[in-house]
Amino acid sequence: MDLKKCVRVIENFPKEGISFKDITTLLQDGEALKYTVDKIAEDLKDQNIDIVVGPEARGFLIGTPVAYALGVGFVPVRKPGKLPGEVERFEYDLEYGSNVLEIHKDAIKPGQRVAIVDDLLATGGTTEAAIKLIEKLGGKVVSTQFLIELEDLNGREKLDNCQVNALIKY
Ligand code: IMP
Repeated sequence: MDLKKCVRVIENFPKEGISFKDITTLLQDGEALKYTVDKIAEDLKDQNIDIVVGPEARGFLIGTPVAYALGVGFVPVRKPGKLPGEVERFEYDLEYGSNVLEIHKDAIKPGQRVAIVDDLLATGGTTEAAIKLIEKLGGKVVSTQFLIELEDLNGREKLDNCQVNALIKY
């Protein structure tokens, strides 16, 4: 299936010069959504994954159905102040300023094998931050799975200790 056809590219969103990959058009297509989830789950099924982690917000949309397909749980990584329990936090640099991500401290048990699922790999900063949080809790990230990879940004170079897979490449 040609998934790339299901992604809508919108120029100059959210600001001038950005070529935004809009996955809402893929999500609203039942066949494309099922194919996406099945493909990622198929790739993970023999990796003894204990838990799927998805970063806010689009990581929730793909990560949760993948977890369901594998029969394992889902853990959200969220922007600060959203999770009600005790959290572990990680701050990382952006081109301008910085960003913080949080995870519930009791969400991952030491030794658990984790897959991170997100919509898009750009610079890899978000995934790297999620890996740091999972490792702080004693989990091991064995695979990272994306719907889209922006290859020119070399995000996968930051993720050299685990599998990196993407279904669509730009
Ligand atoms: P990174 O941290 O630079 O790898 O950026 C990845 C994050 O930015 C993902 O969580 C995406 O949701 C978001 N993102 C960056 N560019 C796009 C885009 O073109 N479409 C949708 N999401 C994007």
